Amino acid sequence: MEKRIAIFPGSFDPITKGHENILRRALPLFDEIVIAIGKNSSKQNYFSLEQRQKWINQVFAKEPKVKIETYTGLTIDFCKKMNANFILRGLRTSADFEFEKSIAQNNTMMAPSIETVFILPIPELSAINSTIVRDIIRNGGDASPFVPKGIDIKAP
Ligand code: ADP
Repeated sequence: MEKRIAIFPGSFDPITKGHENILRRALPLFDEIVIAIGKNSSKQNYFSLEQRQKWINQVFAKEPKVKIETYTGLTIDFCKKMNANFILRGLRTSADFEFEKSIAQNNTMMAPSIETVFILPIPELSAINSTIVRDIIRNGGDASPFVPKGIDIKAP
């Protein structure tokens, strides 16, 4: 059977326990998951690409099914490049749902063979997002409850 490869696209600015939860729960579904850090020129990131990549590496170092890549351009084009037939996304809220729905449906129009798969986070993690983590860090708070274990998160 063809290898089941999924792309998990996002900014991961920084990676949170929410991202980690989605990815770990998706692992049994796929042979390989590529965490794809989008390099979006119109989006100003807080942490450098290198720093974001380093943290993701630390979290999944012992997970042979996880790869980390960066990309620009359309996610579906990156999927084709990586031979991936699935896009993995997390759904926290109904706002996420509305936003993700239009992206996923447009992606299906452009690339019918690529399926978007959604996973809900466990309830305790559905309030976590990278924006909150950045705000805590900017204001000198302790963001460690929100980021994966073993990550030493500091202002850039
Ligand atoms: P993007 O800018 O593409 O939304 P993010 O890094 O913010 O990038 O998010 C990447 C993916 O992770 C998205 O599908 C988002 O819904 C999901 N995600 C982020 N935080 C959580 C969370 N706490 N629970 C579940 N999914 C999450």
